[in-house]
Amino acid sequence: MTKVDIIIVGAGAAGLICAKELSEAGNKVMVIEASERIGGRIYTIVDNHFTLPVELGAEFIHGDLPLTKQLLKEAGIDFYKIKGAIWRSQSGVFVEEDDFFEDVDQVIKQLKKLDTDLNIADFLAQYFSGDGHAKIRKTLTGFVEGYDAADTKKASSFALLQELLGEDDNQYRIKGGYTKLVDHLADTGRKAGCCFKLQTVVTEVRWHKGHVEAIDQTGVSYTAKKIIVTVPLGVLQAAKESPGHINFSPAISDVQKAIDSLGYGIVIKLILQFEEPLWNYAKDIQSKKKKKEPGFLFSDAVIPTWWTQLPEKNAMITGWIAGPQAARLQNEPDEKLIRLGLESLSVIFNLSRETLQSKLIGSYIFNWSKNEFAKGAYSYETVQSKNAKRIIMEPTEKTIYFAGEAYHEGPERGTVEAALRNGMETACKIIKK
Ligand SMILES: Cc1cc2nc3c(=O)[nH]c(=O)nc-3n(C[C@H](O)[C@H](O)[C@H](O)COP(=O)(O)OP(=O)(O)OC[C@H]3O[C@@H](n4cnc5c(N)ncnc54)[C@H](O)[C@@H]3O)c2cc1C
Repeated sequence: MTKVDIIIVGAGAAGLICAKELSEAGNKVMVIEASERIGGRIYTIVDNHFTLPVELGAEFIHGDLPLTKQLLKEAGIDFYKIKGAIWRSQSGVFVEEDDFFEDVDQVIKQLKKLDTDLNIADFLAQYFSGDGHAKIRKTLTGFVEGYDAADTKKASSFALLQELLGEDDNQYRIKGGYTKLVDHLADTGRKAGCCFKLQTVVTEVRWHKGHVEAIDQTGVSYTAKKIIVTVPLGVLQAAKESPGHINFSPAISDVQKAIDSLGYGIVIKLILQFEEPLWNYAKDIQSKKKKKEPGFLFSDAVIPTWWTQLPEKNAMITGWIAGPQAARLQNEPDEKLIRLGLESLSVIFNLSRETLQSKLIGSYIFNWSKNEFAKGAYSYETVQSKNAKRIIMEPTEKTIYFAGEAYHEGPERGTVEAALRNGMETACKIIKK
């Protein structure tokens, strides 16, 4: 039986920063990770068929985020600002837009008037009903479903306001991929004495005050004074018999109830490498409109959202399916999703599917709802979230702690920054920093 001071379950951003901070503070720490790799929902692949590293999970730094930037600086990792215009395809014609969400000021104005929180579907029904508001309803629903991967019948209006007010146009990518940040956190943790156990699924946590026993899938047990659970919300919300599920003995029913009330969305990501940028083939569209090259492309196609790698000029393009549309397609095989991707691009660029297929060099599909140790993509705020997060973040008998992107309070929710900050908050509770 292995004995340490603190067991951390999960080696994603939250688990890794906890491991680094707690090991550096002199604790004997063990990270137990179900998968054969570290990083969790940060998953970078280097493939020679692709011009740049392929990000199957997190890709952008959404704004000037303090902790992410501090860590990158500390590690000497370069990052660069993304560029490119926003193109919206409307009935086969591209329109260049200034913002992801053009009527945002009207929405913010109404959101600011709310006294009590309500879900987005009800907010739209109350304040933007009627034919005159059809465009706002469509755009806001698209934003909440597509960007937050959320269900409008559950997502919080208060959180939406916070998100819209906190929006930062500066977005960045990490040179060499997000995995560089993961490697930095793991390396500093290791140097401070932290040990990692991969391919080890925690199935049960037996505990009493000041003592925990984490049991893995083979029945081996690991003992500590405290445990930090950083597994994704989707895993904690899943049914008892599903892989990754952790049974707490005795049960922590109030925490589980709070966990169940949080929102968790799904995403399917599709990365395609062509011989040449598609907008080069679509000559008629280019010459008619004289546009800046596209950073983001929005459309009504089955796979509606796409982005390029600008300012890096290459022929990689990423498709994004989130929220209810991802739920509808989540059980489709990868081949069908690639076919739908090519059909969508064929509509968007007015090119035949055969032409696109002949120029395709490589493809990756990652369906996060099918990943048994994620069971989805990232969290969103429901009307119940505020109270629920308070319950989850209160350590149980100073023995069981939680950390992860889902428990962060603030407009960065659902991001790597959220996971890092929440992990740091939990570590600081233990170190009493
Ligand atoms: C498709 C996609 C795109 C995204 N894009 C961005 C983006 O551009 N920018 C951004 O900032 N964020 C983005 N995110 C969100 C970001 O990736 C996450 O918020 C963040 O990485 C979560 O970190 P975490 O430590 O909370 O959880 P995770 O990274 O999920 O770590 C939890 C770990 O727990 C492990 N685990 C699960 N069950 C068990 C078990 N029973 N026993 C042991 N280990 C277990 C998992 O394998 C995993 O490694 C994206 C996410 C997805 C899925």
